[in-house]
Amino acid sequence: MDTNADQAAEPSEPKDIPVQNKESTRYCWVCFATDEEDTEAAWVRPCNCRGTTKWVHQSCLQRWVDEKQKGGNLGKVTCPQCQTEYIIVFPNMGILVLLLDTVDSFIYKGCPFLAAGIVVGAIYWCAVTYGAITVMQVIGQKEGLSIMEQADPLVLLIGLPAIPVALVLGKMIRWEDAVLNFIRKNLIKIPIIRNFMPFRIEVSTNTGDSSNENDLPPLSNPVSATRVLCGALLMPTIANIFGKFFFDSVKSNFHKTILGGLTFIAIKGCLRIYHKQQQYIRQCQRKILDYTESNISTYLRNNRQSE
Ligand SMILES: [Zn+2]
Ligand SMILES: [Zn+2]
Repeated sequence: MDTNADQAAEPSEPKDIPVQNKESTRYCWVCFATDEEDTEAAWVRPCNCRGTTKWVHQSCLQRWVDEKQKGGNLGKVTCPQCQTEYIIVFPNMGILVLLLDTVDSFIYKGCPFLAAGIVVGAIYWCAVTYGAITVMQVIGQKEGLSIMEQADPLVLLIGLPAIPVALVLGKMIRWEDAVLNFIRKNLIKIPIIRNFMPFRIEVSTNTGDSSNENDLPPLSNPVSATRVLCGALLMPTIANIFGKFFFDSVKSNFHKTILGGLTFIAIKGCLRIYHKQQQYIRQCQRKILDYTESNISTYLRNNRQSE
């Protein structure tokens, strides 16, 4: 007997069926019923399986196929044991049903693409709108509008959405890290700068600089996508505010905003470099204390103060 058939038949094999009778007794491998138990049921042998378990009730197999297809009546179903594909046929329902079936499957397959297209389109038009607002913000409302009216539509459709993309890409340039790295590596040798910012060589309690370079806390924090996005998209507004605040005497709105933006970037960069360096020093100077009475009480007191 086939080993596959054994697997399905064994668990509920009735003891009272004689061995010589086995080949002629039909088992349903779904409900485990035999010919004698259900004389009315329709039987089918849908696959290559041999032995008693090649048989299955038509209704049991239908249920099993439904379960495999999970609602949809498409898709191939195979025998779980011999992997034969079941021959499933449908009655001819006429041209209208066939047409409706085709339309249905077309919509079913097309919808994910359509939805993706709508999302991409929505993002694109948001970017265009953002670009247009930014142009007006930077150049001035009237000037911006007149420039956009005169411009070639194709240039606008490509140029405007490129504005937020360029802002995000620009925001991802981590120039502060490069500057800080440069300061740490080179300017450290200049005494004035050394006095201005305490650098790591003074900080280090270990000896041998080359060996402990690897133990240093990482230079850059991990990039946060939301932070980059917010920072990039708020940039024109901040540049505008800084321009109005610091460069009000400048006539051209464009120059004003550019100057404001550069000022903001410079101030923020300096603060960031300073903050990073201080965090870095704090990290290098941390210590873990002995668990003694006096250390515990000092620690608790400090914690209470900082809360
Ligand atoms: Zn059955
Ligand atoms: Zn089979």
